[in-house]
Amino acid sequence: MADRDGLIWLDGEMVPWREAKTHVLTHTLHYGLGCFEGVRAYNTANGPAIFRLKEHTDRLFNSAHILNMKMPFSKDVINEAQRAAVRENNLDEAYLRPMVFLGSEGMGLRADNLQVHVMVAAWSWPSYMSPEAKELGIKVRTSSYTRHHVNITMCKAKANGNYINSMLALNEAISGGAEEALLLDNEGYVAEGSGENIFIVRNGELHTPELTSCLAGITRATIIDFAKDLGLVVKERRITRDEVYIAEEAFFTGTAAEVLPIRELDGRQIGEGKRGPITEKLQGMYFDAVKGKLAAHQEWLTAVR
Ligand code: PMP
Repeated sequence: MADRDGLIWLDGEMVPWREAKTHVLTHTLHYGLGCFEGVRAYNTANGPAIFRLKEHTDRLFNSAHILNMKMPFSKDVINEAQRAAVRENNLDEAYLRPMVFLGSEGMGLRADNLQVHVMVAAWSWPSYMSPEAKELGIKVRTSSYTRHHVNITMCKAKANGNYINSMLALNEAISGGAEEALLLDNEGYVAEGSGENIFIVRNGELHTPELTSCLAGITRATIIDFAKDLGLVVKERRITRDEVYIAEEAFFTGTAAEVLPIRELDGRQIGEGKRGPITEKLQGMYFDAVKGKLAAHQEWLTAVR
């Protein structure tokens, strides 16, 4: 990733991709206190546009606030940095990675002279999963790792260190022959995937875990809006893993994963064992929305040029 042409926005200026470096004593590298976003830009009829930029930037600032990191730039500056990262790298579609981190000005947990740095990179990252997975769904395993408890780490923050939990769970799932992990909360209820929220369909209604230990996903919020537009009943509640086994449909949502059907959990087929009709409808609306093909919700798109 580091050895390529392009530009990365770092602390207020565009720097050549290969020179966007930080020191090995960077505080966030040692202790994990930092926060980031995963954002996507899609090609629309009016050129590339960033999907729900405002909501992602708001969440980034909320994450920094929760972690007590003082943002050195305004939201407008960070929004412009994201537009510029897509535009100046001549990208039509892009994954964007803004990150807020503590520098190498000091060391140790008690360092009191640390500066907050911000970077934004953008690159082409077409599909997180194979194109077939979007139709056929993926195999998922319930993780042996519990999702963060709300008073162990801050679950509303998209914090760097939180992703140790995600990576342990994902690596375990992949090494066990599945494609994604389902993490349960500390009481044994369904929380989320390693980097996605989860929905199930039961009796024609859409159910998703409450926002306790799972991240407040922007794709999750988008899907809830679509479901309401369609007149579907949406319930945010505690869900057990065996309810997922007997769901008519299940799917993950996330900026990277988009809307991803789940065809199997722990060796049990879910519904018909492929993308179900409600998933297909919501997935179709999602892809239309991000590409500007949906008349409603044009306010979710921020043009890059
Ligand atoms: N949960 C976790 C742990 C995540 O990392 C992500 C990806 N940001 C999500 C859920 C989905 O969030 P979003 O839809 O905002 O990408």
